[in-house]
Amino acid sequence: MSMPQVSNVVDFELAQLMRADSQAKTAAIKSPASYTEVSQLISGQLQTTLEVAEILEIFFQSSQYLVRYDALHYIHATQSVNVIIGSANALYAVNYRLTFQGEYLGDLFLQRSKKFHEQELISFESLTTSLIFPLRNGLKYHAAIQSALLDPLTGVGNRAAMSKTLQRDMDTARRARQPLSIIMLDIDYFKNINDNYGHACGDKVLTEIAQLLQVQLRTSDAIFRFGGEEFLITLPNTCSEYAQLVGERIRHAIESLVVDFEGQAVTLSASLGCATLHDAEEQDSFIKRSDYALYTAKRNGRNCLQVAG
Ligand code: GH3
Ligand code: MG
Ligand code: MG
Repeated sequence: MSMPQVSNVVDFELAQLMRADSQAKTAAIKSPASYTEVSQLISGQLQTTLEVAEILEIFFQSSQYLVRYDALHYIHATQSVNVIIGSANALYAVNYRLTFQGEYLGDLFLQRSKKFHEQELISFESLTTSLIFPLRNGLKYHAAIQSALLDPLTGVGNRAAMSKTLQRDMDTARRARQPLSIIMLDIDYFKNINDNYGHACGDKVLTEIAQLLQVQLRTSDAIFRFGGEEFLITLPNTCSEYAQLVGERIRHAIESLVVDFEGQAVTLSASLGCATLHDAEEQDSFIKRSDYALYTAKRNGRNCLQVAG
C-alpha cells in the first residue's frame, strides 16, 4: 500500500502550476538548461499521439531525466481511464489532482521507494505543464472513441465494440487456455410491444433490459446491442454449464421484469442461444452458432435457452 506523502490540487490555468503546500512556489528550476531540454523533448514527443496511455508513457520515460521515480499512476474515474506505468509498489506517493480552468483532468500519483525532496517535486511540477494540453486532447479523443462504440439508446456497447471485444476475449481465452462463452438474446414478440404501447415504450423496454443485464452480470462480462432487440453477452473464462446457469438466471429475471410505461405494466420474455468457443474457431462461426441456438429456442416456443452444438 502506498503512503501519500502529500496530496495536492494542481490547476494549470495560464500554464502555471501550483502545488498547494509548496513553500517555494516561485523557486527557480535549479538547472534551467536541462529542464528546458527535457521540457522540449516531452512537448515534441507528446505531439506524436492522442492515446492517453502513450502520452503518460512518454511523460514517464522523459521526466526520469529530471526526477527518478518508480511509477506513475493515472486515474480518471468518470472516463474509465486507469493507467499504471512502472512498478507501483513504492512506499511514497505524491498525489496531484489535475485541473485546467476548473475542468477535472484526472489524478496523477507519483510513486517511489524513497521520500521525494522538495526540489524534485518542484522540477516535476514544472514539467507537468507540458503534459496538460496533450492530456486534455487525449481525454477528448478517448471520450470520442468511447461514444463511437456505445449504443446511444441503451448505453451498452454497439456492434463495432462487440467485434473488437469479442476478438480480444477470443485471443485471451486461447492464450490462457480458458473457456469463453457467449449468449445471444432476443426479446420475444417485441414488435407487439411497439404495436400495443408505442415505439417509446419499446425504447424503454430496451433500456431496462440493458440495465437488468448489467446488474445480472460480472464486471468481466460485457453486453452489446447486436441489433434492434437483440443483445450479445460475452462471458470470459466461463464454461458451457456455467453460461447456461447465467442464461437461465437472465431469462428468469426478464420474465419477472415489469416495465412501467405511463402507468401501464408491461411484461415480456426473451429467448437465448448460448455457445462456447471451439478450438481454432473464427468469430463469425462462433456468433453464428449462438444465433442458430437462439433460432432453435424461438422454434421451441420462446422464453427458453438453447445450447449450440
Ligand atoms: P420474435 O419473438 O420472433 O423475436 O418476434 P419479434 O416481434 O421480437 O421480432 P421481429 O423481428 O418481428 O420484430 C422486431 C421489432 O423490433 C421490429 C422493429 O421495429 C423493432 N425495433 C428494432 N429496433 C428498435 C428500437 O430501437 N426501438 C424500438 N422501439 N423498436 C425497435
Ligand atoms: Mg424478437
Ligand atoms: Mg430479432
